[in-house]
Amino acid sequence: MLSSLAPRADFPLLAANPGLHYLDSAATSQKPAAVLDALRGFYETANANPHRGAYALSAKATDVYHEARATIARFVGVSDTDCLIFTRGTTEAMNLVVSSWGRANVQAGDEVVITALEHHANFVPWQQLARSTGATLRIVELTPQQTIDLDQLRSVVNHRTKVVAVTHVSNAVGAITPLDEVVRIVRSRSSAVIAVDGAQAVPHLPVHFDALDVDFYVFSGHKLLGPMGSGCLLGRRALLEAMPPYQYGGDMIEWVRDTESTWNVLPHKFEAGTPNAADAVGLAAAVTYLDGLGMGNVRAHELALLERAEAKLLALPGVTVYGPPVAQRSGVLSFSMTDVHPHDLATILDQHGVCIRAGHHCAQPLMRRLGVSATARASFYVYSDESDVDALVGALTAAQSLFSTAS
Ligand code: PMP
Repeated sequence: MLSSLAPRADFPLLAANPGLHYLDSAATSQKPAAVLDALRGFYETANANPHRGAYALSAKATDVYHEARATIARFVGVSDTDCLIFTRGTTEAMNLVVSSWGRANVQAGDEVVITALEHHANFVPWQQLARSTGATLRIVELTPQQTIDLDQLRSVVNHRTKVVAVTHVSNAVGAITPLDEVVRIVRSRSSAVIAVDGAQAVPHLPVHFDALDVDFYVFSGHKLLGPMGSGCLLGRRALLEAMPPYQYGGDMIEWVRDTESTWNVLPHKFEAGTPNAADAVGLAAAVTYLDGLGMGNVRAHELALLERAEAKLLALPGVTVYGPPVAQRSGVLSFSMTDVHPHDLATILDQHGVCIRAGHHCAQPLMRRLGVSATARASFYVYSDESDVDALVGALTAAQSLFSTAS
C-alpha cells in the first residue's frame, strides 16, 4: 500500500474528513496548517499596508512581503528577485503579459503561436490579441497522444512569429511538454518570445526558471498548497523593463505630474495598489513546505500513484485513458467510461466520498480534438495515497454496475 508523501494530518480539511478522497488537486490543492498559520500569523503580527507607512509595523509588513518574494524566487529558480511579479494567479499573470507585452509588440502581419493543448487562460488572451491587432493566430496541433506536435511546431515557427505560448503541463490530460525541445525549435527559427503556462508544472515538478531559457513563466499559488488569489509572473528583466504597466495606481508610479507620470522600478511597476501581502506570505509557506518534501520526491510519488491508478482503471471494462504514457504525464488521470457521462460519474463518485472533476477542464479546443465534450479527471498530490486510488476504482466499479443494471 503506497502511503502519502505528506501526512494527511498536516492538512486540517483532510484530517477532519477521514473518509474524503480528494482527487481534484489539479483544480486546487488542499492547504497544510503551515500555510493557514502563516496567513493568520501575517494578520496577527505584521498587518499594515506595505510600502506606505513610516512606522515600524508597516516596515515589518514590507519586509515579510519581500522575504516571501525571495523565498518563492529561490523555489522556482529566479536569481533576479525583482523579476518575480505577484499576481492573483496564472490567469492574471498571462493577461498581464498579453496586455502589456502583447499590445506593445504585436501588430498586423505578425504571427502568434499557441497550441491545441492550452487551458483557456493561455488560449483566449492570445486569440483576442490576434483579433484586435490583426496578427495571425497559428494553433499547433497535437499528436494522437495529446502532446504538442513538435514537427508541426517546427513548420509553424518562422521569422514572422512574435510569440510562442505553450503550457508546461496540460491540466486536462497531464501531458508534460518537453520545454527544452520547444525552446530549441523556437530559438533556431525566430526571435519570438516564449511564454509558458506553468500552472500545472510548478506544483508537481522541479522548475528552475533561470535554466529554462524562456521569457515569461506564470503559475498559481492555490494549486501548490498556497492561498487562492496568489500567483506569479516570472520574466526576463529586459522585457519587463521595456513593457508598459498593466494597471495604474498607487505604488507603481515614480512621479505623477498633472499630464504625465513615470513608473516605479521592478517589481513595483506591475504591482499597482495595496499588495496581497498575506497571501504572498502564505505562498512562501507553501513552497517552504514543498521544499521540505523535495520536488523530486513529489514527482516520484505522483508517478507511482499514477502508475497504480492507471493499471487499475484500465483493468475495468470500457475505460479509456487520455494523454501520453504515464511517464510523460504529471499526476493527472483523464478518462471516460463507456455509456456513463463524466458528470454522472462525478456525481456517483461523490456519493462514495471521491472528489473528481468532470467537464471540459477549461480546454474546449482540446476536447473538440478528442471528439468529446467532457472527460472525467482524477488528479493526485502529496497527500494522496493508494487508498484514494482504491476508493476511486471501487466507486467506478459501483457506478458501472449501476449503469449496466439501469440499461
Ligand atoms: N493554466 C492551467 C494549465 C491551469 O490548470 C489553470 C487552472 N485550472 C490555469 C491556467 C488558470 O489558473 P488560475 O485559475 O489559477 O488563474
